[in-house]
Amino acid sequence: MWVYRLKGRAAELDPLIPDLFDRGARGLEEQEGEVWAYFPAPLDLPFGGVWEELPDEDWLSAWRRDLKPVWAGPFVVLAPWHPWEGEGEGIPLVIEPGMAFGTGHHETTRLALSALARHLRPGERVLDLGTGSGILAIAAAKLGGKALGVDIDETVLPQAEENARRNGAGVRFLPGSLEEALPHGPFDLLVANLFAELHRELAPLYPKALAPEGRLLLTGILAEKASLVKEAMAREGFSLLEEEREGEWVLLTYGI
Ligand code: SAM
Repeated sequence: MWVYRLKGRAAELDPLIPDLFDRGARGLEEQEGEVWAYFPAPLDLPFGGVWEELPDEDWLSAWRRDLKPVWAGPFVVLAPWHPWEGEGEGIPLVIEPGMAFGTGHHETTRLALSALARHLRPGERVLDLGTGSGILAIAAAKLGGKALGVDIDETVLPQAEENARRNGAGVRFLPGSLEEALPHGPFDLLVANLFAELHRELAPLYPKALAPEGRLLLTGILAEKASLVKEAMAREGFSLLEEEREGEWVLLTYGI
């Protein structure tokens, strides 16, 4: 296992985190004045960090030991090895922290989990666009929704399927993006943890995906880029219903 050591605090380096995961980071850890990103092998990265090789077993056992359950709204996100006896104390989501983004340790995933709990009514059809680990689609199913998860990265889908099995959640996963999901719609709720520029690009397609009175939960948006999404959504005639923020990240809820 290799560690890529970046100078700075996690809050300052937050905008890099999705990129590090996209490039194959297995986990992140804050050290004194540094953030350590763990990778199976070193690669060319443009962020000015320093590579160091670590003995595999030490890293794995320390990382497993230090990974804590995460709360988001009514959900508690657990790794498969976390004991859980909290019957009645929250809705457990068991997610294997692997290569796919979506372990509940990122603000945007937590924002989306809380928003799903506020907006989803049992029986509604839900699209999780950019499903990653499947966490949001699985959460939607646990709330009584009929969930479809899609992702352009086909390598994440077996992990999403395995996570759904672990949780006893009946979720369908398909490769692709919004275009591929449209024939399976319309959806009452669309949740998408992507990034601001992509939401701007997808804005003209969002109305085609939604049922009458459908709602959109859009996150992966840095606060400083929220205006870019808001302008695109206003052009499509959407009304902003809610704006939630955690750290540098926001979630925007829209209705038609
Ligand atoms: N839904 C999970 C969560 O909230 O934690 C994962 C979100 S992760 C930030 C974004 C995911 O979207 C990645 O798995 C990526 O492969 C996928 N993705 C990126 N662009 C996409 C697109 N145009 N259509 C569908 N999925 C996309």
